[in-house]
Amino acid sequence: MHKPIIRIPAEDLTRQYQQIRWEVAAAIDSVLPSGKYTLGPVLEQFEQEFATYCGVKHAIGISNGTEALHLALLAMGVGAGDEVITQANTYVATAFAVNYCGATPVFVDIEPTYSNIDVKQIEKKITSKTKVIIPVHIYGHTVDMDPIIEIAKKYNLKVLEDASHAHGATYKGRRTGGLADAAAFSFYPSKVLGAYGDAGAVVTNDDQINHRLRVLRYMGQEVKHTHLEIGYQQRLDPVQAAILRVKLRHLDGWIEKRRRIAALYNHLLQDLPIDLPKEADWAYHVYYLYTIRCQERDELAEYLALKGIETQKIYHTPVPLQPCYRYLNYRPEEIPVAADYATKLLNLPLFPEMTEEEVEIVCDQVRNFFEGKR
Ligand SMILES: *Cc1c(COP(=O)(O)O)cnc(C)c1O
Repeated sequence: MHKPIIRIPAEDLTRQYQQIRWEVAAAIDSVLPSGKYTLGPVLEQFEQEFATYCGVKHAIGISNGTEALHLALLAMGVGAGDEVITQANTYVATAFAVNYCGATPVFVDIEPTYSNIDVKQIEKKITSKTKVIIPVHIYGHTVDMDPIIEIAKKYNLKVLEDASHAHGATYKGRRTGGLADAAAFSFYPSKVLGAYGDAGAVVTNDDQINHRLRVLRYMGQEVKHTHLEIGYQQRLDPVQAAILRVKLRHLDGWIEKRRRIAALYNHLLQDLPIDLPKEADWAYHVYYLYTIRCQERDELAEYLALKGIETQKIYHTPVPLQPCYRYLNYRPEEIPVAADYATKLLNLPLFPEMTEEEVEIVCDQVRNFFEGKR
């Protein structure tokens, strides 16, 4: 007898699409006959709704999350020769955005509990060139923001949240996006709130940053045909905005499902020799990723793959140790926690439409691996 062949993907965006396909079709159909395919009312509606969701005054739709970070840094005045502090274990876009401004990313190690920036190590990295700190709410867990805001005040720095993992996550009851001077979001398809293509946004309470961003994303124009500065062609397109409006209405429900799956994982894996994700008192974790750590990461991943279970080793190389940052000469000993975790972390499958049975299958196989039933 052959056992049925099981395939559990790391993520599956098609299940969600099937649930909302008619809403999505109607949304797209509200844009295409209008003849208005850039900027326009649908984009403005999404911007208003997303700003309200985040509890801030302004949202500015940008073409993708990387450009949202880039333009937000420019709007904060970052330029050639400046330094921007961020964490060593993040998606490379956080750092590239700094380079795009002609500035230098300065990497701080992560703290061991939540894998967020180690706040205690920020101050010693501040120089006369430092302009901005970018905390990343990594994997969907909010950073302890109060001490960062305090440091920023003391040294007159701006703080930009990289909230690309953490749509809807909260810090002391307040949603990401409203926790600093501005926040950049990616709506890359697999993110907690994802478009059907590339998309992003910056949100802020700061009227000046809002104004600058609207000019920057539209070729330096405040009114058409007058280019105030060398700007960029980086607007969020209205078809994606229409889709995001649909998905925003479902977001809190999907986050609850993510949390339920994470809780089931936590329960079923608790006695195994694995470090499981933790949630601080201050945080409402949205589990963009369910990231575990274990010594035998590579063997476990390989074992699960043989059983039809897909996992991901994202961030297996800390950003400062990537080839592109060789010129900065970081050594693993300078970022010991990030360097260590990079060899241990593994994302188990997690997406809102994953069934309880699938979570149980994954956990059974993880258990089989550790109990030597290989
Ligand atoms: C996804 C992501 C980005 C960039 O988003 P794109 O929309 O893919 O350009 C930035 N920062 C982090 C932490 C991300 O995960």
